[in-house]
Amino acid sequence: MVEELEAFDMTIFQNNIAFAEQLDQDDPLKSFRKSFLIPANENGERAYFLGNSLGLQPVNTRAAVDKIFSHWQQEGVESFFKGDEPWLDLHQKLQHAMAPIAGAMPYEITIMNQLTVNIHLMLVSFYRPKGLRKKILMEKKAFPSDQYAVRSYLEHLGLDPDEIIIEVNAAGEDEVIADEEIIKAIYEYGEELALVFWGGLNYYSGQVFDMKSITEAAHSVGAMAGFDLAHAMGNIPLQLHGWKVDFASWCSYKYLNAGPGAVAGAFIHQDHLNVPDINRLNGWWGYDKGERFLMKNRFSPEKDASAWQLSTPSILSYACLGASLKIFADASWEAIQQKHHLMKEWMAFLLEDLKGNAVKCITPYSRGSQVSLLFKEKGKEVYDILFEKGFMVDWREPNVIRLAPVPLYNRYTEVYHFVETLQQALKTLHLQ
Ligand SMILES: *Cc1c(COP(=O)(O)O)cnc(C)c1O
Repeated sequence: MVEELEAFDMTIFQNNIAFAEQLDQDDPLKSFRKSFLIPANENGERAYFLGNSLGLQPVNTRAAVDKIFSHWQQEGVESFFKGDEPWLDLHQKLQHAMAPIAGAMPYEITIMNQLTVNIHLMLVSFYRPKGLRKKILMEKKAFPSDQYAVRSYLEHLGLDPDEIIIEVNAAGEDEVIADEEIIKAIYEYGEELALVFWGGLNYYSGQVFDMKSITEAAHSVGAMAGFDLAHAMGNIPLQLHGWKVDFASWCSYKYLNAGPGAVAGAFIHQDHLNVPDINRLNGWWGYDKGERFLMKNRFSPEKDASAWQLSTPSILSYACLGASLKIFADASWEAIQQKHHLMKEWMAFLLEDLKGNAVKCITPYSRGSQVSLLFKEKGKEVYDILFEKGFMVDWREPNVIRLAPVPLYNRYTEVYHFVETLQQALKTLHLQ
């Protein structure tokens, strides 16, 4: 099985528990598991493979939030300006902490709102239909919130979403869309295309898209390129600045471990910063920080991506994101990516040994954590067995189990036990 996975040198791997334990032993990031609170049941720690859905809680998050509460208690509103970490400085710290993960300049990033809200704000600035050039290219199986956002925004402009949106569909049941198909569609619509709005990594199939080539193709026909990076940020290597992506947005509660509903992020390429006539919805928090509190009644924006901020941010949520990004910095994004790579190869190697064709990996081989397994039948029964044995994975109708081993807190032995238990479940259910 796992035909989609590219061939790579797996000669060092051995399918046994001793080898898995050796990989854990040699793991340079093994100590970081202690930086997270691992869900447990009466049999001990569970194998949490849901970092693609809600990343685990860092141990230091509670103290970071407590620090905000103490600061508030002692200084009240003065906390924005006083103390060892004035709240007004936190945004800049977060911009710097996010930059290496996004492959962006700190000034191209702003930390604000939530993902779907940010998609709307980015559409305001970067969807500018003009004459023939009106169409938006999207994935047919985009995350529903992205579709709701784009469709409702078009209706708000008085446009018919069915006329404007072009959806590129996957060829088969695996929901994989070849990058060439996307690029072909971009050239096909050419001067009618205003915007390509795509996911960096599809939430269902786990497919990683070639954002660089998609952006280049969009630009070459005169369109903008923007990405929803919900499943990409903190998961795969990104070069938003170098690829010249026009804008992007992401949430921080998946691979970034900043907690449920955490403050999200947006990227605006340097080429669009400090452009006086850009279309943007304004609020006082986007006002030039040096003069914000002079309370003038005409807007004068920040020079960087912070100009897109509208409201006083949740400082509590900033603290959660800051605590989590500190772990990324301590571990180093480079080392995290290396473990990503090895874990993914390890999982692919073990799945390769699964006998029979009851289950198929639909995720094309990539650097992303997520693997989506498509079951011919009884997928839900397999899921129930896995859950009962302490494996926290994700069930998607009609027949897919998704899981994402995460470098910062998952172990190679957990991946080994997962595949072993999957194999047993298939036997129990007479699927092989
Ligand atoms: C998780 C996810 C969302 C969720 O949006 P919120 O506004 O954070 O609730 C949106 N789009 C994609 C692609 C996602 O994966």
